Amino acid sequence: MTTVSDYFGSLVFDDRVMKATLSADVYQSLRKTIDENAQLDIGVANAVAVAMKDWAVAHGATHYTHWFQPLTGITAEKHDSFISPSPDGGVIMEFSGKELLKGEPDASSFPSGGLRATFEARGYTAWDPTSYAFIKGKTLCIPTAFCSYGSEALDKKTPLLRSMEALNRQALRILHLFGNDSVKCVRTAVGPEQEYFLIDKEMYEQRRDLRFTGRTLFGAKPPKGQEMDDHYFGVIKPRVAAYMEELNEELWKLGILAKTEHNEVAPAQHELAPIYTTTNIATDHNQLTMEIMQKVAAKHGLVCLLHEKPFAGVNGSGKHNNWSIATDTGVNLLSPGETPYENAQFLLFLCAVIKAVDDYQDLLRLSVATAGNDHRLGANEAPPAVVSIFLGDELNAVLEAIETNTPYQGMEKTQMKLGVDVLPKFNRDTTDRNRTSPFAFTGNKFEFRMLGSSNSIACANIMLNSAVAESLKIYADRLEKAEDFKTTLHEMIRKTIKDHKNIIFNGNGYDETWIKEATEKRGLLNYRTTPDCMPHILDEKNVKMLTSHGVFSEAEIKSRCEIMLDNYCKTVIIEANTMEDMARTEIAPAVEAYAVELAKSAAAKKALDQGLACSYECKLVKKLSTLLDRISVKTDELEQALFDLKAKEDIIEEGYFIRDIVLVKMSELRLACDEAEVITAKKYWPFPTYGDLLFSVK
Ligand code: ADP
Ligand code: MG
Repeated sequence: MTTVSDYFGSLVFDDRVMKATLSADVYQSLRKTIDENAQLDIGVANAVAVAMKDWAVAHGATHYTHWFQPLTGITAEKHDSFISPSPDGGVIMEFSGKELLKGEPDASSFPSGGLRATFEARGYTAWDPTSYAFIKGKTLCIPTAFCSYGSEALDKKTPLLRSMEALNRQALRILHLFGNDSVKCVRTAVGPEQEYFLIDKEMYEQRRDLRFTGRTLFGAKPPKGQEMDDHYFGVIKPRVAAYMEELNEELWKLGILAKTEHNEVAPAQHELAPIYTTTNIATDHNQLTMEIMQKVAAKHGLVCLLHEKPFAGVNGSGKHNNWSIATDTGVNLLSPGETPYENAQFLLFLCAVIKAVDDYQDLLRLSVATAGNDHRLGANEAPPAVVSIFLGDELNAVLEAIETNTPYQGMEKTQMKLGVDVLPKFNRDTTDRNRTSPFAFTGNKFEFRMLGSSNSIACANIMLNSAVAESLKIYADRLEKAEDFKTTLHEMIRKTIKDHKNIIFNGNGYDETWIKEATEKRGLLNYRTTPDCMPHILDEKNVKMLTSHGVFSEAEIKSRCEIMLDNYCKTVIIEANTMEDMARTEIAPAVEAYAVELAKSAAAKKALDQGLACSYECKLVKKLSTLLDRISVKTDELEQALFDLKAKEDIIEEGYFIRDIVLVKMSELRLACDEAEVITAKKYWPFPTYGDLLFSVK
């Protein structure tokens, strides 16, 4: 019997394969490049390319591709075959170091927000040796970064790697101040928990809204929804279980550490969590996971919906970004230590995160902003659009004691003076699981919960890493100059707690009163929609911070803002067009047909006997006719709104118009149609209902 360990990573050119297929010299050079960012010379690249190609061909691959993550949010690949003609009329399989290192996809159709126009016409891809190559189907996929010839990043991976490097630089300064000289490298790690819906493919095919937009644009609430809470952690249905089994196998072959899976709150909703790994690899893996999830679903007659809000009135799907910082010596810097000394260092890193999240609430918020996620954040669903941090009671008590110079209850009457020697030992708080906080400390990591299920995790981590790098830089600048390290450290930690305690909230984030308190009393930001938050990426403080750490150039920031807003607008426009179309060509005719049938029946009854009552039919026909008129009016209004939108001159104005007018018209149209759905005979309704979709998979 084959076991998981037999095939785990079998489609990955990982360290085991490298060791087995490369000469000792080549292997050592490559390792140096992977571990220490050392430059790779072309001789080594050639040798690696040959070994990679031979291994891939032996596993059935015929093509290779530079696999990258353009700003559209999906991954992109252009396949080239290994074949090269040989003089005898046959072919040989070839792959050179040059082809491994650099590719030139015809990138003119990827969004660049004007970058390519300003700089160079074409972009190129560059190998990221820290993320292993892998085989998908018959193609060797080489993870790469995608840049313009002016070196402007056209993808999500480049700034992610830069943000990791920025955090590494600043964290090392702090660690050296604490005397940790053996640490060579600090990396962030992420474990993203991925939510998704599974529905029956045949039903999906019948709904144009799902096919074109990934979410339902119409649909009355089903008689049974999620109110029983009977789905959460419930027994997994056989079709779903078979799906999960195959999904795990496919992910394991790709070296992805898929670990847990369970049902979620909503019917047909599930979750998959991998074991955490280095952030850029976790990002690649999450992109791959989303792709494989959809592929495997198709094989099971299912469709995997990754949209943030496929169904109104039912929980949406998010992605929890579990994030920590660790050294190459294996120390998790967000883990309270065993000794007071370690705890002082832990508290400083904790403060760096608190300060970062408070100072750059806007960047964190906008890093997860999409048209889809707007239906969750700031709508009737948690987490809210207000960023706050949950710390748990114990840690909170420690911080309060430090701030107020009072005894910490966990310590017998000891003054909380954060000299390196007097910090109390405290245990990590694992009991309290606050589920509503957008940014929760969970013992030895932070869980950023605002990400949408279809988001690339790159964006959130770019902002998180950069903001924390900035806090650490400010601390290091001060500590390096300090005459008395301990006193300065203590004062800095106290000041951070004092200045930033407003962002700490340990209560219920779903509570309406919290939003009031957060915005009115605490002055926290509440950007409810993408057009509200996105332009703030251009705020001076944000541009200054991101450019000073070399994460983005100013031009890159501008281009990203434009692309994200453009994406928002396009998404909603497609939805609006689809709605208009479905209302006119499917819903209105169905309602009409049913009304005609009722009217015929009424007429027939009347003809039979003057005295025969037909109040049922008449009442219903009246209702349906009124609704039909409303549907028609609302469809026209939506059409007009889309027409008016065309007159908007810039993308920010367009975003506001969509937020204020188009989306409002869309909900009005939906409301009329949903009202019609519940009084129209089922056999007339042109597509599967919520009840059909949500309970379609047995
Ligand atoms: P839950 O949040 O469902 O209780 P866990 O906290 O055990 O589950 O883990 C959730 C995710 O957090 C998993 O992907 C796990 O690998 C990841 N995780 C655990 N420890 C860390 C860490 N130190 N850094 C980053 N991610 C982590
Ligand atoms: Mg979790």
